[in-house]
Amino acid sequence: MLRINHDLCTLCEHCISVCPFGALQLAHDSIQVLDACRLCKICVRQCPVEAMYIESTTSTPEATPDARDVLVVAEFENGGLHPVTLELIGKGREMADEISASLGCVLIGFGSASHGEYVLEYGVDRAFIFDHEELEHFRIEPYTCAVEEVIKEFEPAIVLFAATPIGRSLAPRVAARCRTGLTADCTTLEVRPNGELVQIRPAFGGNIMAQIITPNHRPQMATMRYKIMDPAKPRRNPGARVEVRELASEALASAIKVLNVEKRPPEVSIADAEIIVAAGRGIGDRETLALVEKLAHLLGGQVGVTRPLVEAGWADYTQQIGLSGRAIRPKLLITVGVSGAVQFSASVTGAEVIVAINNDPHAPIFKVAHYGLVGDLHEILPALINDLQEVTAYAI
Ligand SMILES: Cc1cc2nc3c(=O)[nH]c(=O)nc-3n(C[C@H](O)[C@H](O)[C@H](O)COP(=O)(O)OP(=O)(O)OC[C@H]3O[C@@H](n4cnc5c(N)ncnc54)[C@H](O)[C@@H]3O)c2cc1C
Repeated sequence: MLRINHDLCTLCEHCISVCPFGALQLAHDSIQVLDACRLCKICVRQCPVEAMYIESTTSTPEATPDARDVLVVAEFENGGLHPVTLELIGKGREMADEISASLGCVLIGFGSASHGEYVLEYGVDRAFIFDHEELEHFRIEPYTCAVEEVIKEFEPAIVLFAATPIGRSLAPRVAARCRTGLTADCTTLEVRPNGELVQIRPAFGGNIMAQIITPNHRPQMATMRYKIMDPAKPRRNPGARVEVRELASEALASAIKVLNVEKRPPEVSIADAEIIVAAGRGIGDRETLALVEKLAHLLGGQVGVTRPLVEAGWADYTQQIGLSGRAIRPKLLITVGVSGAVQFSASVTGAEVIVAINNDPHAPIFKVAHYGLVGDLHEILPALINDLQEVTAYAI
C-alpha cells in the first residue's frame, strides 16, 4: 500500500504531477491515493520531504510455506495434448532440477487419463488426472476447482500455465483463489536457489524487460507463450506416477452450457513454419512485399511481418511476429528491413538461424541475428531471388 505521512507532507503536489497513472489527488486538504496506483514508487522517490512510503500488508517471506515443487497445467486441443504442454513441462523440469524439486502436471478433460503415462515419459513426477465427461469442454469454474485442489494437495512453489486463450482465462482465476500474484506472457523464467521465480517480460510498452518476483506469496504463477520454450525431451523417470482425482459434483457445476462446438478450418500458422521471411517497415512499399513473398516461396517458407505492416493493412494479423502477434521457432528466419525492436526480437529467439538484412549496421536486429547483411534491401533481395532461381533451375 502507498502511504503518506501527513505530518511530513507539505501539500506541494509534486507527487501528483509526477504520477504517471493519475493515481494521486488533493482532496480534503490531504493527498489521496486512488485505485489507479500501481505502486511504481516514482512519487516515493521524488517526494522532496520523504513523506511517501510503501507499507507491506502481507506476510513476510519467512512466513510463507516452505514449498519448492513445480506444477504445470496441461492443455488439450482437439482431443490431444496441445504442444505447448511439452514446452511447459520442459521449462518446469529444468527449474525443478535446478532447485531439486518435483514436477507435477495437472491434466483436466474428458479422456485426459490416456495422456497421464505419456507426460511421465517427459520428466513429470506426478500426473494428476481429472477425467470426467463434464470436463470435455473448457468451463472455467470446474477447471479452476481442479487446479485449486491439486495446488492444495501438492503445494507447489511455482505454477505454470500456457498463455493461450484457455490459460489466460484460467490462470487469473486460480491466482485469485490462491490469493497470489500472476505474471502474464512471460518471455523468460529463471529460478533462484531459494526457489524464487524470476518472471521476465517486457513492460512499460516494451521499453524495459521487467524482472518480476512474488516474494510474499506462494505459489508463484506465470503464463508462458507457445513457441518461446524448448519442448521437453523424453527421459527415464522411475518412481513417477499417475494419480486419478475426482471432483465433487458441486465443483463440476458450471453456469456455462456448451451448446455446440464448431471447429475452425485448420490455419497454416507461422508459429509452426520451418522457414520464414519476415518483412519490416524498411521494405517501403507493397511491390517490395511481393518480392519478400517470392523469396519465401522459393525457399518453401512463409511470410511473416512486423506490426507496422499489419497496421498499414499490407498483411493479415495472423502473419504478425512479436509480442502482440505470434512467437516463432523456425529453422531459418530471414528478416528484411526489420529494426529488431524488443517486441519483435523477444519472439524470435527460438529460431535456429536468423539472417538479417538491414542498411543500418547499428540496428538491434543484428544483436539477435546469426548472419547480417548490411546494405540496401532493394539490391540484396532481387540478388538473392536471382541466385535462388538459378540454383533451383540448376537443381531441376
Ligand atoms: C505494446 C507493444 C506491442 C508491440 N508488439 C509488436 C509485435 O508484436 N510485433 C512487432 O513487430 N512490433 C510490435 N510493436 C512495435 C515495435 O515496437 C516496433 O515499432 C516495430 O517492431 C518496428 O517494426 P519494423 O522493424 O518493421 O520498423 P522500423 O522500426 O521502422 O524499422 C525499419 C528498419 O528497416 C531498415 N531499413 C529501412 N530502409 C531500408 C533499406 N532500404 N534497406 C535495408 N534496411 C532498411 C531501417 O534501418 C530500420 O532498422 C509493439 C509495440 C508496443 C508498444
